[in-house]
Amino acid sequence: MEVLIVEDDRISQKLLSKTLSNLGYSVLETANGRQAWEKLKTGEIQLVITDWLMPEMDGLELTRAIRNADLINYVYIIILTSQEGVDNIIDGLDAGADDYLIKPFNPRELSARLKIGERVLDLEQKLKGAHEKMRDLAMHDELTGIWNRRAFYSHAAAELERNRRENLFLSIIMLDIDHFKSVNDRFGHLVGDQALKMVVDTLKNNLRQYDRVGRWGGEEFIVFLPSTTLDEAAKIAERLRVDIAAAELPLSDSDDAILQVQISLGVASIKGDQDVSLDSLVDRADEMMYQAKEEGRNQVRLYK
Ligand SMILES: [Mg+2]
Repeated sequence: MEVLIVEDDRISQKLLSKTLSNLGYSVLETANGRQAWEKLKTGEIQLVITDWLMPEMDGLELTRAIRNADLINYVYIIILTSQEGVDNIIDGLDAGADDYLIKPFNPRELSARLKIGERVLDLEQKLKGAHEKMRDLAMHDELTGIWNRRAFYSHAAAELERNRRENLFLSIIMLDIDHFKSVNDRFGHLVGDQALKMVVDTLKNNLRQYDRVGRWGGEEFIVFLPSTTLDEAAKIAERLRVDIAAAELPLSDSDDAILQVQISLGVASIKGDQDVSLDSLVDRADEMMYQAKEEGRNQVRLYK
C-alpha cells in the first residue's frame, strides 16, 4: 500500500520514509501541504502521514483541504506532532484527521496505527462495493438485466430535459406480449421467463447504441429513442414486431417444439419545444398500444 509522507524536516522525512519502507509500504515524499495536495488530487492515495507545522500549507490546512474535497476514495490521515504541540491534537482531529502520533515516534506504534488505517480503508471499500451492488440491484430488472421502471423513468426524465434544450425529436415505444398469460398457463413460468428474455434479446439486437429499453411491468416493455421522429420510430417498432414474431424459443421437452410470441406496440413522439410531460408521452404510447391490442394485436399504432 502507498503512503504519502508530508514533512518539511529532511531528517524526519528520511527516517519516516525508511521506517515505512521497512514495514513494506511504498512511500511518496512531499515537503509541505501544497505539494501533498497536488498528489492527493489524483484520488489514488489513501493513506497520509502529515507533519503539523510546515511552510506554505500546514498539516491542519491540508487535512481541511482533503475533507472539503470531493475525492473518489476516503483518505486516512495521521497527524504527526511534537510533544510541545500535543494541545493541537484536538484541533487536528476536529479538522478531520483520523489519528495522531507524537514525535519521536515508535516504529511499532506507527505500524499498529497504519494497520488501523488500512482496516478502515478496507471496510470503506467493502461498504462502497456493497452500496454499488445494491444500487445496481435497485435499478435493474432481476430476470432480464435491463432497467426497471424506476431507472428507466429517471433516465427518460433527464433525457427529456436535454431534448427540450436541444429541441430535438424524441420517441417512445410501449410494447406488450400478446396473450402472455396463456404462455404461462400452458408452459409454466420457467418457459414464460425464457420467453421474456427472448423478447428482451430481440429488442436489444434491434436497438441503436443510444436507445434504451426498460421493463415497465410483467410482460410490458418500454423503449426510449432519443433524436428520433415518429416516422423513424414507426419503422423501428415495425422491425421489432416482425423480429419478435420470428424469434423461436426451443421447448426442451420435445425435439422440434418451439414457442413463438407476438407483441402489440404503441408509439408516441414529441419535439423538444412541445410542452409535454414524460407521463403524458408514456400515456400516449400506452394508449396506442391498447388500441393495437383492441384492433387485433401483433401490430403497431402511432399517436398522431
Ligand atoms: Mg515541521
